[in-house]
Amino acid sequence: MNVAVIGLGYVGAVTATGLARLGHAVTGIDMDTARVKLIQQGKAPVYEPGLAATLAWAVKEKKLTARSGMQLDGNEVVFICVGTPSKKDGSTDLQYVRSVTEAVGKNLPDRYPLIVVKSTVPPGTTESLIPLIEKSSGKKYKKDFGIAMNPEFLREGKALEDFAKPDRIVIGAEDEKSRQMLDALYASFSCPKLRCNLRTAEMIKYASNAFLATKISFINEMAGLCDVLGIDVYEVAQGMGYDPRIGRSFLNAGIGYGGSCFPKDANSLIHVAKAAGIEPKILQAAAATNISQPLRLVEMTKKHLGELRNKKIALLGLAFKPDTNDIREAPALKIIVRLLRDGVHITAYDPQAMENTRKVFGDKLTYATSVSHALKDAEACLLLTEWEEFKKLDAAAFASMKRKLVIEGRNCLDREKLKGIEYHGIGRGI
Ligand code: NAD
Repeated sequence: MNVAVIGLGYVGAVTATGLARLGHAVTGIDMDTARVKLIQQGKAPVYEPGLAATLAWAVKEKKLTARSGMQLDGNEVVFICVGTPSKKDGSTDLQYVRSVTEAVGKNLPDRYPLIVVKSTVPPGTTESLIPLIEKSSGKKYKKDFGIAMNPEFLREGKALEDFAKPDRIVIGAEDEKSRQMLDALYASFSCPKLRCNLRTAEMIKYASNAFLATKISFINEMAGLCDVLGIDVYEVAQGMGYDPRIGRSFLNAGIGYGGSCFPKDANSLIHVAKAAGIEPKILQAAAATNISQPLRLVEMTKKHLGELRNKKIALLGLAFKPDTNDIREAPALKIIVRLLRDGVHITAYDPQAMENTRKVFGDKLTYATSVSHALKDAEACLLLTEWEEFKKLDAAAFASMKRKLVIEGRNCLDREKLKGIEYHGIGRGI
């Protein structure tokens, strides 16, 4: 099929590349001309394992083209993948979705195009876009165009893999033709496909993220208790996880969740619930736990290192999770802000997220070129992202530190290999 993907960030770039790999003719559209230029040159606009090679192939084979103008002629399906950031009050800023929708209406292709909202939006949003398209196009919903809500569940760091092998595909649509068009687009996938109305599709995405965020905050609360009681929360999580009703995933205690989705989507759902007259007590507690969680690592550092002023501390990991350069809402950001306030000299290293971090903190930090560069003469090392490279570190790797104090926020080091190192970790009961 001929498909346009509007918004070429993490979701749009992966969707466009994934659909091109499936054999569809894809046009990627973004207002960011630098991003468009990169894609035209066959380069990935974001770091995501495997994306650079597949995108380069798709562009070379002319299965994927990119542009900044909103010409949609000939496209049967138009995906909206633009950002939906939080406003100050926690509600979702829909200005990008709305302005793109209007532009789509003004450039609506002739033959019953299907507009698909992939951006994460509060329940009721997709419905509210219908009059906007009708007004800007002068055409009628269900007669001249269709609309669908198809939430995205990809995990950054595994996004292409998730595109190729999704757990499920949610097809929110209220007319048979729209449903059939999305069915046809995803015909080659054998995963469960849930067909539902627009609001349900929107809510499935929100409830999924809210549940996962709550699971993380729950185990972090248990970690706080385990620390006081001298119990290793990771052993507890293992014991809990064998129960299929609980499952082991998302029971990793640490410095909390980050990224562009969980914090914003949890806050947005809290806002939606309150507006509907419901007090979302569990979600509010999960969000509050997550706000204070990164600072627990700073408290642990103070406990073991004493006064922080003028001390050199190495940070390993800045991205909100491994295999991405994304630092949006990363716990590392909160830790950096607090350490800077306490007068710490920070030397930081991350395999992919240095450039993005420099955009936020400029020369307030020292940016190391390697793990060993970051650790040299440091009085403490805080491990903030569980990159594969860090998991392999042993006692010798920390030998050049002034004080060999390692405090983990991600439980990824092998303690057996750290003989002679002063080690502490959130939830380890030590
Ligand atoms: P992003 O910020 O990385 O990308 C958004 C892109 O949209 C940018 O390239 C921006 O230039 C472009 N854009 C904005 N306004 C535009 C306009 N008027 N015309 C053309 N392009 C425009 O965002 P993202 O992380 O890809 O997320 C996009 C949506 O998907 C959000 O709603 C997010 O919540 C949701 N989502 C994200 C993830 C994830 O892991 N990042 C996962 C699932 C769902």
